[in-house]
Amino acid sequence: VGPVNARDLAAWVRYAAELVSADAERLTRLDAAIGDGDHGLNLDRGFRAAVDALPDGAPPGKVLIAAGRAIVSKTGGASGPLYGTVLRRAGKALGDADDVDAAALGAALKAALDGVQELGKAVEGDKTMVDALAPAVAAFAAALADGTGLAGCVRAAADAAAEGADATVPMRARKGRASYLGERSEGHMDPGASSTALLLRALAEVAGE
Ligand code: ADP
Ligand code: MG
Ligand code: MG
Repeated sequence: VGPVNARDLAAWVRYAAELVSADAERLTRLDAAIGDGDHGLNLDRGFRAAVDALPDGAPPGKVLIAAGRAIVSKTGGASGPLYGTVLRRAGKALGDADDVDAAALGAALKAALDGVQELGKAVEGDKTMVDALAPAVAAFAAALADGTGLAGCVRAAADAAAEGADATVPMRARKGRASYLGERSEGHMDPGASSTALLLRALAEVAGE
């Protein structure tokens, strides 16, 4: 499997929107336990808007930037600006290139993580989407360093994100709405970490085709 292009990334946005929509109730249930019960709804609205905003004939970076802008403008809550930042920063990192190889995609993921941490100030262990995204970035880089191809790198990242989301269950939230619950936030998976794992699974499936 070679580099990915604009069509692949547009396919990712569409597939992510499908998975989010199918999983919206579960994400909302997770958020009902430690937040305000709108995470699935927020993301569903945001990704629908992202699909509508997909440009024709634009390079991969511009596809992600357009999707990110739509998500910021249509997604309520904390996750809208955060996921908007993920997509816009990743898009910016890709520049105007027509093809995205494994190294470029890894750099884009890292830029996305940096953007989320600049905006939300969360570190690993705070029980947020960073607990899925940070291990994903690290696993991608480790796979790349081992000489793994793009599809394998994304698969490693998606697996690490899923493990990272599972690992948020015992954590006590220190950022976002869930932090208001203090120790009562323990024992529940963070909804944003779970949705990040979902988005990376979608990317792995598109990149693996
Ligand atoms: P809201 O909490 O405003 O209702 P959502 O329910 O859509 O927004 O999203 C909640 C998710 O956002 C959390 O599960 C967490 O993963 C993520 N989140 C909240 N605050 C931060 C932050 N400061 N940094 C990173 N992620 C955060
Ligand atoms: Mg919420
Ligand atoms: Mg909310």
